[in-house]
Amino acid sequence: MSDEDIKQRRRCKCCNKLYDYAVQNSHSTRFFCEDCTDLSEPIRKVLATFNKRLVEIENQLKPPQKGSGAK
Ligand SMILES: [Zn+2]
Repeated sequence: MSDEDIKQRRRCKCCNKLYDYAVQNSHSTRFFCEDCTDLSEPIRKVLATFNKRLVEIENQLKPPQKGSGAK
């Protein structure tokens, strides 16, 4: 087993950025990337709310995938 097995690709709840979790010398947590862990909790909360809405809007803009969803 190498370190690579432990690392995980995660998406930050605040800024929607992809980051590697469980990297040495990184402050990132399970839910937030390194940049966002430095922010204070109220700010993270607001950003997470905005990000959630953005993701919802993005999903609505995407054309429905073929084969999925039987209508
Ligand atoms: Zn982030």
